[in-house]
Amino acid sequence: MHPKYVYAFEEGDGKNTQLLGGKGANLCEMTQIGLNVPPGFVITAAAGRTSGDTPSVPSGVMTEVRSHMHRLEKKVGKAFGSPTNPLLVSVRSGAAMSMPGMMDTILNLGLNHATLPGLLQQTKNERFGYDAYRRFIQLFGKVALGVPDALFDEQCEAIKRDAGVKADAGLRASHLRDLSARFLHVVQQQTGQPFPEDVYEQLAMAITAVFRSWTGKRAVAYRREFHITPTMANGTAVNVVAMVFGNMGDDCATGVGFTRNPGTGANEMYGEYLVNAQGEDVVAGLRTPKPVQEMQREMPELYRQLVALRNTLEAHYHEVQEYEYTIEQGTLYCLQTRNGKMNAVAMVRTAVEMVHEGLISKEQALLRVNPSELEQLLHPCLDLRGAHTPVAQGLPASPGAASGQCVFDADRAEILGRSGVKVILVREETKPEDIHGFFAAQGILTSRGGKTSHAAVVARGMGKACVAGAEGLHIETKTRLATGDGVTLHEGDVITIDGSTGHVYLGEMPMIPPHFSDELQTLLTWADDVAGLEVLANADTPEAATQAVQYGAMGIGLCRTERMFNASDRLPLMVEMILASTTEERQQALDKLLPIQREDFMQMFRVMSPRPVTVRLLDPPMHEFLPSAQQLLDDIAALHEEYRVAVKGQTTAFQALGVSLPDDAPCEELITSVIAKKQQMLRKVQELSEVNPMLGHRGVRLGITYPAIYEMQIRAILEATARCLQDGIQVWPEIMVPQVITARELVRVKQAVEALQQHIETQYRRKLVCKFGSMIETVRACLQADTLAEVAEFFSFGTNDLTQATFSFSREDAESKFLPLYTASQLLPENPFEVLDVEGMGTLMQMAVAKGRQTNPLLKVGICGEHGGHPASIRFCSQIGLNYVSCSAPRVPVARLAAAHATLLESR
Ligand code: ADP
Ligand code: MG
Ligand code: MG
Repeated sequence: MHPKYVYAFEEGDGKNTQLLGGKGANLCEMTQIGLNVPPGFVITAAAGRTSGDTPSVPSGVMTEVRSHMHRLEKKVGKAFGSPTNPLLVSVRSGAAMSMPGMMDTILNLGLNHATLPGLLQQTKNERFGYDAYRRFIQLFGKVALGVPDALFDEQCEAIKRDAGVKADAGLRASHLRDLSARFLHVVQQQTGQPFPEDVYEQLAMAITAVFRSWTGKRAVAYRREFHITPTMANGTAVNVVAMVFGNMGDDCATGVGFTRNPGTGANEMYGEYLVNAQGEDVVAGLRTPKPVQEMQREMPELYRQLVALRNTLEAHYHEVQEYEYTIEQGTLYCLQTRNGKMNAVAMVRTAVEMVHEGLISKEQALLRVNPSELEQLLHPCLDLRGAHTPVAQGLPASPGAASGQCVFDADRAEILGRSGVKVILVREETKPEDIHGFFAAQGILTSRGGKTSHAAVVARGMGKACVAGAEGLHIETKTRLATGDGVTLHEGDVITIDGSTGHVYLGEMPMIPPHFSDELQTLLTWADDVAGLEVLANADTPEAATQAVQYGAMGIGLCRTERMFNASDRLPLMVEMILASTTEERQQALDKLLPIQREDFMQMFRVMSPRPVTVRLLDPPMHEFLPSAQQLLDDIAALHEEYRVAVKGQTTAFQALGVSLPDDAPCEELITSVIAKKQQMLRKVQELSEVNPMLGHRGVRLGITYPAIYEMQIRAILEATARCLQDGIQVWPEIMVPQVITARELVRVKQAVEALQQHIETQYRRKLVCKFGSMIETVRACLQADTLAEVAEFFSFGTNDLTQATFSFSREDAESKFLPLYTASQLLPENPFEVLDVEGMGTLMQMAVAKGRQTNPLLKVGICGEHGGHPASIRFCSQIGLNYVSCSAPRVPVARLAAAHATLLESR
């Protein structure tokens, strides 16, 4: 006995999306809660898998399909293939994960020479009948028979030319009849066979084709991009649905709606519809639809029904729904619902408001928002101060602003985008085959289609800016031109689009950073309440620290002091310190640096008070503060040349004046002394040069060889602490030592801390509290964690260096030379510099945590590498019992939510 392959909408389990696909499961569910869904049935994804690559659906499946077709005929009161009262169906794809537009659907199936007259007779509407027929031939031809769309479009254009009309709507019944005949001819020519007349043959071929579309190029690319694995969705189901028609007259319509506004999250009717049109017309963006609010005036009774439909959907699903409907001669049918794809703003707002409305719990709200998507909220918007006149206006289809060069096709967008050029994809309308262009583009601009057009839906899902339906622009892909009211855009011209207003501007516009909504604040407060991990920020300047506090960081987990030395007023002092040839000279330079560092720390402490601030002592090799040898050689060569020119110039000048040249011409002297300085610096650079600086003289090794440097830094931290305390500011400094390999290094530095602390405590007559800890970023530190923990009060995994150490890769070389190939060919699952390598480095980390806590049960452990802001890596940190993660300030909100997810998912 094989399993049941076919379920009527009345009997399928609405929760079983793996078997029935999302679309099928929801069609079942909606039927069962009493919504008006046209009758139909679902053929399971399992049935699709049994067909595999075979050319047709197994006969066992078709037997069940036939018996369900008979049941369908009874329900609808029509007969499949009947010349007098024909039943037409759609054959629709739908997998467990929504992949909008990535797979195929065939409409109006069941039409042939025999049934068409029946349809014409019944509807008394020739135009409608032939329109349905030609649409069916084209869709079936394309999807089931592989006939290129362009061949049909050519015929359609030819007929329109002959008829002297621009749009399809201008074609009369006779034109559409001719067109159907031409389409049949195209199929015959392309396939060498007549178009299939037998309706069950049509059905079997359509089902096979829809199953096959799962492995189509578009679908495969989409799954790869969005990491949809076979456990998430394994094949598509097929839905066979009795056709209803939105194109039989002006009492018909078709539309797409969201139960809440997917751009803002507002709790209001949202969507678009077209009168006298078939469903695909809205999505394809061929005609620009009307906002649903207009239906209230145009079809008040149906609008009321639509509001009721929307309310039922939300009350049942407790989640924002995106639904498709069709009105056939005054009757409303719901054709699909799914969880609405929204941008992060709307996601956050609807989740929080649904908690307030009592529809869902706080935990559900937290889990509903994907942490990585919060990054969208950190997108900039346009700074519109000053006069800027838009050159075109479209619909605000996906919020956010973006600038880039105009590019008129997806392939070119991909090529340019890959090479790092910012591009805006400009199209009349987009189709699923343009998807690779979306990935590469900063934003999308179309001249046709509405807020539910393909371009809009896909851009919103990706969090990219989109302006759709900018009808004032005439876009010509062939000549690569867009012309509008007094403006011509060539390929390569830079434009800015504002997906929040629909405006298009010439050139690159200034942007302002995003702000935090109240709903986001609320959601993140809930996140903090459940999260086991604390989220700290990596911040090196008072500005970054201020941002970190705004984003809700509970402290600073990494303050890199070297960044403080790079400002133009400090670098010369740093250079002086490095160039010093004696200990005294070095100390003099350090004495000048001390007050500057102290002031830096005081500022940081003030901003962060009363939160902890972890300061890392100097880490990079010293030559990073000096120009490169090549730079110096070039400078010296240029100076020699200037010297020559200057001497010649002076000589000429004095000759012209008729006086003799003085011995000490001022200009020569200056140049000579600069050359000497540069040469001294060059010698130092050569002296400091290392074969492999990453693994060379840096971190604590530097602190050990030049103890005065670390002493200056420690003194600055402690004095800043004492002074802040004097001012009544609470501060909790923590000193962290980089690149440690042995506890003896820690002991050495700690002795310096203790000595200075005692001294400063006496001087300021205050007790200071300062934690002392170690970075864990060498393999030996992991192996020796138990002994390190005897000296350190906390550990912080520096996962950037630790990744390099674990793999013995240098990051730059790896990423530019071989890592892309490694990940593409699945030798490594991901780039370990972006996603924490749980398998390898994770084992080391786990061991270090265990060993560390063995000797020091109170040891605080965290992570401060880039991984600290990556949701999956945060999950792992939570699992191995870390106390905190520290990441860049803008990622703090992402990390806070990810930390909550980690706890919630673990407790499941
Ligand atoms: P997609 O997954 O690409 O949205 P669908 O299977 O939903 O594809 O179908 C494409 C379009 O055809 C949609 O607008 C849908 O509403 C419409 N459609 C599908 N089946 C029917 C039907 N039985 N009657 C009327 N319209 C239909
Ligand atoms: Mg659909
Ligand atoms: Mg490091």
